[in-house]
Amino acid sequence: MPPLSPRRPDLRDLDDAEVLALCRELGQPPFRARQILHWLYGARAGSTEAMTDLPAAFRTELARRADAFLPSVVKAQGAADATRKFLLGLADGQLIETVLIPASAGLYGDRSDRLTLCVSTQVGCAYGCRFCASGMGGFRRNLTPSEIVGQLLVAEREGGCRASNLVFMGMGEPLANYPNVLKAIRILNAPWGVALGARKITISTSGLAPEIERLAAEPIQVRLAVSLHGARDEVRNGIMPVNRRYPLAKLMAACEAYQRTKGRMITFEYLLLAGVNDAIEEAPRLAALARRARAKVNLIPFNEVPGTRFRRPSDEQCRRFAETLARAGVRATLRTEKGGDIEAACGQLRLRELRGHAAVASPRRAC
Ligand code: SAH
Ligand code: SF4
Repeated sequence: MPPLSPRRPDLRDLDDAEVLALCRELGQPPFRARQILHWLYGARAGSTEAMTDLPAAFRTELARRADAFLPSVVKAQGAADATRKFLLGLADGQLIETVLIPASAGLYGDRSDRLTLCVSTQVGCAYGCRFCASGMGGFRRNLTPSEIVGQLLVAEREGGCRASNLVFMGMGEPLANYPNVLKAIRILNAPWGVALGARKITISTSGLAPEIERLAAEPIQVRLAVSLHGARDEVRNGIMPVNRRYPLAKLMAACEAYQRTKGRMITFEYLLLAGVNDAIEEAPRLAALARRARAKVNLIPFNEVPGTRFRRPSDEQCRRFAETLARAGVRATLRTEKGGDIEAACGQLRLRELRGHAAVASPRRAC
């Protein structure tokens, strides 16, 4: 899918070399590029007018060429466990979601000093997984690099904190917006940008096998999470239409290739859905796949979405499933619920906003 540019170019869509080239083109000395980058990522300016140490005529010229837009906060919600969720407005009025999750809220049962930011990569999602709120309003458009990076800048400003980790687990399929997500990662990672280590960044995908292989060939060390949610084609086909295009054999081959090339452990995410994929017999099948791809498994009890037929299994069933995996020699964690009281599962807050204000568009599915 080609990246869409719904509006004027933004300075945060550019890397350092491109900002430098723009300065040259406008007859400015190279140090102006450094000043601009400081305004964009150090001072986190929301407009070119705010860049007060640039000559006024240059600022006017710059404003004619590009924006320095930051998303607006349409709604902010805090959960009892200190998870904070933001509904953000983009320049063209589209809405996206960003969630700040402290480790103590239970994401992966991780160390308590972590603060993970979960960002969106698309407005809506075309992949239509049956259990997911993000796909329910259909797909609208890809996010630009500046819109992806802007989520971090705004959430950190609102939260008065610095995120230690970033996961592409908000709305949208990151690997279906490949060029923009990769550029955003370069900006997040760069010393002149956000300076967040690549190893602190996780891309989550529903299983786009060719893009997983393409990612394996990139010279970046981001972490990969694959939303498996089923250990057999029959189960995945019933809940994830993407599996018809890239069935488990293809997906597993891509995961193994990624693991071999990068030498890093990947993560399988496995949503526990009552009566769909939570039978104890599924656990050894999942364990076999995890061993093949040298993956660890994150079990995620379903966060119930109104309007879907899916239910969350009992805590006891989730625990038994996790223990069976562990006994099969697989590193497995059971994610405790985070932000459950603020509809923190991807797409839920936006879906409610859309339902409240307008009819939801009929879903356009990618597969
Ligand atoms: N499109 C990508 C990334 C965004 S979804 C992907 O599918 O991996 C991020 C994760 O949230 C996925 O594992 C997805 O299956 C999961 N998810 C979606 N709806 C959920 C819900 N209601 N409860 C819990 N997890 C959910
Ligand atoms: Fe899209 Fe991921 Fe939701 Fe599936 S789970 S509909 S791929 S956002």
